[in-house]
Amino acid sequence: MDRTERIEKMAASLVPWYKACARQLPWREDTEPYHVWVSEIMLQQTRIETVIPYYLRFMQELPDVRALAGADPERLHKLWEGLGYYSRVRNLQTAAKQITEKFNGNFPDTFEDIRSLQGVGDYTAGAIASICFDLPCPAVDGNVLRVLSRLTGDDRPVNDEKLKKEVRAELAESYPPSDRGVFTQAIMELGETVCKANGTPDCAVCPCREFCKSAAGGWANLPVITPKKERKKERLTLLLLHCGSRLAIRKRPEKGLLAGMWELPNVPGKQTGNKVFLQAEEWGCRPVSWKAEKNGRHIFTHVEWDMCCYTVECEEASPAFTWVSAEELENTVSLPTAFRKMLP
Ligand code: SF4
Repeated sequence: MDRTERIEKMAASLVPWYKACARQLPWREDTEPYHVWVSEIMLQQTRIETVIPYYLRFMQELPDVRALAGADPERLHKLWEGLGYYSRVRNLQTAAKQITEKFNGNFPDTFEDIRSLQGVGDYTAGAIASICFDLPCPAVDGNVLRVLSRLTGDDRPVNDEKLKKEVRAELAESYPPSDRGVFTQAIMELGETVCKANGTPDCAVCPCREFCKSAAGGWANLPVITPKKERKKERLTLLLLHCGSRLAIRKRPEKGLLAGMWELPNVPGKQTGNKVFLQAEEWGCRPVSWKAEKNGRHIFTHVEWDMCCYTVECEEASPAFTWVSAEELENTVSLPTAFRKMLP
């Protein structure tokens, strides 16, 4: 059986399998583009179980494109707090404004127009176009590439952009005449629940087992992934500057990692308590004492932070910072997890 035949057989088997076995998820209750779009953006680099409560809260507060376009950016960051990759939510809002202004508030309904929205790549555009508008547009991500590499016994590295493009074109040709959105979701579902990334795939219950080239055990060596470059390691000293009951925070630069987000004041390298004290003095906080707090680590996609932390009691609320109460920190300030986890 050749590759094309296997893919066509997969398309025919997956649609009925998905209709019978798909998990119930909040964003699958309908095919409203706003729902599919927000969920797809949230699901990038994030597990389904983590996304569910965020999605429900987001929809309750911002039920449609107009509400998202007009939302207070600080509140948006707060709704996203803990999900990471904050540029995603900023892009969501920019795209919501594009929809309001350029498309009169109607969600675009062609692949090209959907793809033109800020933060929407080929994968998300394919997912929305097929799930919401029944277009034969594949959504190819790591899950889909893994399933196809096993199904067809393909040992080309799946993290090669050229292969991704090829698979997208190949899959588009195999789309069924109807239920296209179901097919898109069915491959994703198979990759998430049966032909899994970690652990043994459940070949015994897989709807593709009879025509899968790897069902007899070949899956163990697939997919092939070219090793990534090692993450850069950075050391950082955080300062919990207290003045009375308030804590100092400041905004990060508008470019780079966690751009424009709040952060705890920090200096590069691992510093001693005395150095930290002098730094607080230099910032005009009139420090009176310091205490070492816990150490921690935070892993981003390309960089890893190795952090130590000090509490510094101060007498002056220096204008170099914004000083917030514990209540504000909890309810209104969106502090990225990398910093929040270092709070005592
Ligand atoms: Fe993956 Fe096994 Fe299904 Fe093949 S038969 S697609 S290896 S789960």
